[in-house]
Amino acid sequence: MAINNAYLNGVYEDLAGRYPEQTEFLEAVHEVLETLVPVIEADPRYEQQNIIGRIVEPERAVMFRVPWVDDAGKVQVNRGYRVQFNSAIGPYKGGLRFDPEVNLSVIKFLGFEQIFKNSLTTLPMGGGKGGSDFNPKGKSDAEVMRFCQSFMTELFRHIGADTDVPAGDKGVGGREIGYMFGQYKRLKNEWTGVLTGKGLSYGGSLARTEATGYGLCYFADAYMKDNGKSFEGKKVIVSGSGNVAIYANQKATQLGGTVIAMSDRSGYIVDENGIDYKVIKVIKEQKRAALKTYLDYVPTATYVEGSTGIWTVKADIALPCATQNEINEESAKALVANGVIGVFEGSNMPCTPEAIAVIKGAGLLYSPGKASNACGVLCSGLEMSQNSERLSWSFDEVDSKMKGLMEGIYATCAATAAKYGMPGDIQAGANIAGFLKVADAMLAQGVC
Ligand code: NDP
Repeated sequence: MAINNAYLNGVYEDLAGRYPEQTEFLEAVHEVLETLVPVIEADPRYEQQNIIGRIVEPERAVMFRVPWVDDAGKVQVNRGYRVQFNSAIGPYKGGLRFDPEVNLSVIKFLGFEQIFKNSLTTLPMGGGKGGSDFNPKGKSDAEVMRFCQSFMTELFRHIGADTDVPAGDKGVGGREIGYMFGQYKRLKNEWTGVLTGKGLSYGGSLARTEATGYGLCYFADAYMKDNGKSFEGKKVIVSGSGNVAIYANQKATQLGGTVIAMSDRSGYIVDENGIDYKVIKVIKEQKRAALKTYLDYVPTATYVEGSTGIWTVKADIALPCATQNEINEESAKALVANGVIGVFEGSNMPCTPEAIAVIKGAGLLYSPGKASNACGVLCSGLEMSQNSERLSWSFDEVDSKMKGLMEGIYATCAATAAKYGMPGDIQAGANIAGFLKVADAMLAQGVC
């Protein structure tokens, strides 16, 4: 759909003509640009200095071969990526995703989102993202280690504690970060905080594992309370059963909700008594098994094949925490029909544009991932601070900083939306607030 401003629309059309195959990236750009119309109209400098034309092009994108040897002695090859999108307000920062679906479009969409998310955290972090089409599932520890070492053997020359600081994302947890950190240290012969999400024995931050899921609930709680609602007594759907989903379950439960449905790639489980996040941790973090094995531990639960049906479960709050475009128009209609009060995004871009239109059109509360899942990178920023200081803060110290900062992000989004004539539109508020800080830094730094 055309954007209601000639300059913004021109930049978008140009981009769409140049990268027609990068559908996820174009979707992410369109979503941001269509909310920036009042900003561009209010300040002519952004157009004069072609800030939008510059912000949609990565400063640098590296693609490389990742050869490794599997346990059978066969040589395998995967593709590696690091997209360094924008360094106006700090070193590039953003996760690495290992997933067979990874391609340049996916990494560019994630890197583009990361610019605005990192800006919203108020910490000095630019935007970047990377990863590989390597699938860690079903691989032995030794295979994962050899892959990670090979991946870092190329990546190390492009990153650094003051240049670019990757973290984890889908498919990259503590194990993978550990292997990559070890290889970086070996290649550079220096110990620096070049990666975040590190283990606690070697520079990691307490609460980093919990950060994104906890932060999502802190954000959703602040947003609901501002609208006279809360988690108390509510039934909650949490899609996914990975890092974000597990700790969203824990915090939503602590805040008085009951998580009645969770999913993985194969299907979803339902238990009206509440799903125990500790059992999910055992299944997914220790055993790396399928979610349906939850029934072996908790026989009152039921399992349904196919993950998209999770959005038809009757509940009050939806927390998508699995992957991009997991809620389409049909799923959004099911949520609305079931009387859900809000959709708060834990994963990146889980709602398609059509789904967002249905959700907002029905008057539900809606927060975009770049705001409500910002706590992962926010805590990574706190890990960088601790590494620089050579200090470790307590769990409670980190957690209380996270809570305060996430409530602050909500307040900023709400105030910015109101200032630009769209009160209550947290999506617009997030995009505009995230954009302004980066755009003003770019203006100050000249054409670069
Ligand atoms: P994990 O790899 O830990 O977990 C992902 C979960 O989603 C798994 O349960 C996986 O199922 C499920 N899943 C993956 N793809 C699909 C699919 N196509 N359909 C249905 N379910 C799927 O990843 P994270 O929890 O770290 O990340 C989840 C989302 O949150 C991603 O969008 C990520 O970018 C975003 N995010 C993560 C942050 C973090 O700190 N980890 C920070 C900010 C955003 P299975 O178990 O079968 O693989």
